[in-house]
Amino acid sequence: MSAPVLLEARQLVVEYARGRRVLDGVDFVLRPGESVAIVGPSGSGKSTLLAHLAGLRRPDGGEVRFEGRPLASRASRELDRFRARQLGFVFQRAALLPYLTVRENVCLALGCLGPRALGESASRVDRLLEWTGLAPLAERRADRLSVGEAQRVAVARALVKNPPLVLADEPTGSIDAAGAAAIVDLLLLDRSDRTVVIATHDARVSARCERVLAVQGGRLV
Ligand code: ADP
Ligand code: MG
Repeated sequence: MSAPVLLEARQLVVEYARGRRVLDGVDFVLRPGESVAIVGPSGSGKSTLLAHLAGLRRPDGGEVRFEGRPLASRASRELDRFRARQLGFVFQRAALLPYLTVRENVCLALGCLGPRALGESASRVDRLLEWTGLAPLAERRADRLSVGEAQRVAVARALVKNPPLVLADEPTGSIDAAGAAAIVDLLLLDRSDRTVVIATHDARVSARCERVLAVQGGRLV
C-alpha cells in the first residue's frame, strides 16, 4: 500500500490575464515527510504555485487537496484554521514586524504575545530560539537584524507551531552561502514527518531536497 497523501494538486490552472496561463495543468502529490524543491526561472510561476498550495487564492481550474479534501470546498474560516494550524509559510522577504523583537515575532505566530506569553507557550518559544541558534538575538528588534538573521527568524516563526506542512518561497534569496545553508538546515533537519516545499533557484538548496520539480511551460516536470 502506498503512503498517505498530505497535499495534492490536480490539473491546477491559474491565469492572471484571460488566455495567459501561468500554471497550465499542474499535477503533484506530496507525502508526509517529503522535501521538495520547486525550481524554475524568475516569472515561471513558483510563487503562484505556493500561494495556491497555501489556499491563499482560488485556482481558475483544477484543485488543491490537503489530506484528501479540496481547499476550495472549505469555508473561509476553515481555510484560516488550516493556515493557522497546519501550515508554516516563509515569505521571500522575511516579513517580520520591524518594531517587535525576535522573541515577540515568534510569539505572535503562537498567538501568545503580551502578558499571557507565559508557561508552555513561552518555553516552547525559548526552546525553538535555542535550537535555531537565535537565543542571543531574542530581545533584538527585527529591524536591527541582518537579512540572513531575519530570514532565520522567519523560518523559526513558521516552525513554532510544528505544522505538518511548511512552504518556503525563496527563503535564501540574497543571502550568502553560509547563511543559506543555515536556513536550509533549519527547514530540513530534525523534522520527523514535516513536509517541506521550497521554491528556489539556488542549486545548493535544491540539492538538499529529496525531489526537485521544475516549473516549465506552466507544468511541473
Ligand atoms: P516566480 O515566483 O517563479 O518568479 P510568479 O509566480 O511570481 O513567478 O509569477 C509568474 C508570472 O505571473 C509572472 O509573469 C508574473 O508577472 C505573473 N504574475 C504574478 N502575480 C501576478 C498578479 N497578481 N497579477 C498579474 N500577474 C501576475
Ligand atoms: Mg517568486
